Amino acid sequence: MTDLWTSAEIAQATGGAASAPFAVSGVAFDSREVGQGDLFVAMKGETTDGHKFIDRAFGQGAAGAIVSEPVAHPHILVPDSAAALESLGRASRKRMAGKVIGVTGSVGKTGTKEALFLALDRSAPGQVHRSVKSYNNHVGVPLSLSRMPRDAAYGVFEMGMNHAGELSALTRQVRPHVAIVTAIAPAHIEFFGTEAKIAQAKAEIFEGLESGGTAIIPYDSPHVATLYNKAERHAGRILTFGMSDQADIHVMESMAAPGGGTFVTARLPDAELCFTIAAPGDHWVSNALAVLAAVEAVGGDLAAAGLALAEMPGLPGRGERRMLPVAGGKALLIDESYNANPLSMKATLTQLGRENADRRIAILGGMRELGDRSVELHAGLAASLAAGQVDFAILVGAEMAPLADALDGAIPYAHVPDTAAAIPLIQTEMRAGDAVLVKGSNGVGLSRLIAALTEAA
Ligand code: ATP
Ligand code: MG
Repeated sequence: MTDLWTSAEIAQATGGAASAPFAVSGVAFDSREVGQGDLFVAMKGETTDGHKFIDRAFGQGAAGAIVSEPVAHPHILVPDSAAALESLGRASRKRMAGKVIGVTGSVGKTGTKEALFLALDRSAPGQVHRSVKSYNNHVGVPLSLSRMPRDAAYGVFEMGMNHAGELSALTRQVRPHVAIVTAIAPAHIEFFGTEAKIAQAKAEIFEGLESGGTAIIPYDSPHVATLYNKAERHAGRILTFGMSDQADIHVMESMAAPGGGTFVTARLPDAELCFTIAAPGDHWVSNALAVLAAVEAVGGDLAAAGLALAEMPGLPGRGERRMLPVAGGKALLIDESYNANPLSMKATLTQLGRENADRRIAILGGMRELGDRSVELHAGLAASLAAGQVDFAILVGAEMAPLADALDGAIPYAHVPDTAAAIPLIQTEMRAGDAVLVKGSNGVGLSRLIAALTEAA
């Protein structure tokens, strides 16, 4: 196996000094993630100091470390490990001769990144590298860059932010040939004030585009003009995607496919493409269009990419579906416990309304980081619940009080203080033929409810 990095390359990239020659095949900064042959980057965080975990990292097979204090293991000594990781990420990007795609947006980054990985893997020759998990911030992006194999044909990077200026810095490290904005929504709005400011901050991703690069933007967004104007200044080509037939890449026809997915006929710049998306909901159709736009932009095989979308597995916490055995039959459990904001609540409740079920139950937890718009935006979910034809709602936590008020008896609901109280309620309530959507911000802990239901099954 070719080494990912030699100690000489790391020393050169970071300006540090090597204590001994070594070579590594991976990179990690979380000691729990260190595997055989990895480079361990010991960073000083607000709460922990990675240097404390040096022995553990080497015990797990680390082959070398980046440190800001000398240690008794092979290492590169630098003044600042975080800055060194960033330098390593830049060096990785510089030596890579393939195409790089950056994905940002208020929702759908991880889903789009995973689907794009699958589509490129099937549609184009060569190795495809991608960021794992939601490693999308000032540490996650350089880490993901530094892990990219030197001969990767493609790199797909998730890029996130919760303040203006963050993407501007990240995109200059990633230097994408293709930059995708999936959607704009009031996520992290407490740090921005308005959705327009969120759109401006997301548009920063275009600042780092390689010369002649492609910007991919959501046509149906109310903020399309903001994104377009910024893209025009930095991109060689702009591709819009959406439901509207004005979008460069749009849906001509769609219908429900068995198992919750969707059959789509889409218009692409030079072709019409029919494909099936395994993941359910219009929001996944939208993400799929963005994926196809990116595949087209890098010259991949669109038909193969279309076929790959049919294989997209459900992602835990982001729409994964399970049939649970219950008395007399089965109930459908839709796990959206990882993340929630008004746009994704609306998208997933709309999909719930389309499920072929006897009863539709929504277990909803709070949406975090909405600042002083929190009350209004929670109350606003009443319309989405109606659209989702919800028969019974379990509202979890104090943040849901405005929604309970807004429902005003329109549909039956129970308002419980926390996830622990919701678990026995749904366990007694759930019947054969139910479709149960579980959605809330990660901090609400609805993943514990999912675990309780699936472990009991
Ligand atoms: P994070 O900022 O936490 O990394 P993310 O942008 O990576 O989030 P995902 O994890 O891909 O987002 O998706 C989170 C949830 O958003 C999904 O479970 C789904 O409910 C919803 N979602 C995904 N794509 C869209 C979309 N295009 N429009 C609306 N909602 C979407
Ligand atoms: Mg993510």
